[in-house]
Amino acid sequence: RYYAVNTAPLQNSSLGGQVIVLQDITHFKELDQIKSRFVSMVSHDLKSPLTAIQGYAQLVADGHMGTVNEMQRDALQAVVRNTGAMTALISDLLDLGKIEAGIGISPQETDLAVVLREVIDELKLRAKMGQISVQPEIPSSLPLVADPSRMRQVFTNILSNAIKYTPSGGQVQIRANNGDAKMHVQIQDSGLGIPEDSLPHIFERFYRVKRDIDSPIEGTGLGLAITKSIVDEHGGTIEVQSVIGEGTTFNVYLPQHK
Ligand code: ADP
Repeated sequence: RYYAVNTAPLQNSSLGGQVIVLQDITHFKELDQIKSRFVSMVSHDLKSPLTAIQGYAQLVADGHMGTVNEMQRDALQAVVRNTGAMTALISDLLDLGKIEAGIGISPQETDLAVVLREVIDELKLRAKMGQISVQPEIPSSLPLVADPSRMRQVFTNILSNAIKYTPSGGQVQIRANNGDAKMHVQIQDSGLGIPEDSLPHIFERFYRVKRDIDSPIEGTGLGLAITKSIVDEHGGTIEVQSVIGEGTTFNVYLPQHK
């Protein structure tokens, strides 16, 4: 059985002590597992037909099955784009299922400094296009036992959000250092910020902040859910601070097993 444990200090007691409340959450856990299994089953079954649709639409659009006019090509490109977005969403869902099930993470000797530099390099162009300056302060080496490709996913998600939600002319700072027991990575942007009442929800699956802006910013609301699951599975923590209109700071702490 599964229990949720809540503790609180005993009030008005000269002896001190704690009150412990156990709540049986077995039923919720079981429902959650059924839901996760269902999602990954459906996602799996959707992925192959979508890949076929996308592949054929691309073939026809490229003129490999006869001549297409401009209007037909545009329509087919829209099919390709939309199926691409759906495939990405399904991959995210499958990924989340795997991480939450505790599979799909292979820790090994990793240099987090190398991972961070690669992530910054990959997103450099996107930042430049948005006229955002990315300022890294990263030591030459940050040895850690972790899954390097999952770490890449974590920092790609946080950094690409920082770029995505920062208007042009803004800055993103990335600081990393090696504490005694924990590795600390901080990503701070001067962007849109997150409303206070949204802050407790941003790590939930599919949660997206509704914003009053003309051109909507695209996304699925799964990036930070995946990020948090990966950090959790590594025994770490992730925290967020934000002031609307001023910017957002994410702090990631990862334990170092020495
Ligand atoms: P997505 O970006 O696909 O919507 P995420 O799970 O990555 O989903 O993020 C959830 C929400 O948190 C986003 O909708 C966004 O509004 C907010 N958010 C995340 N990072 C930032 C950031 N650096 N600045 C402002 N808002 C952010």
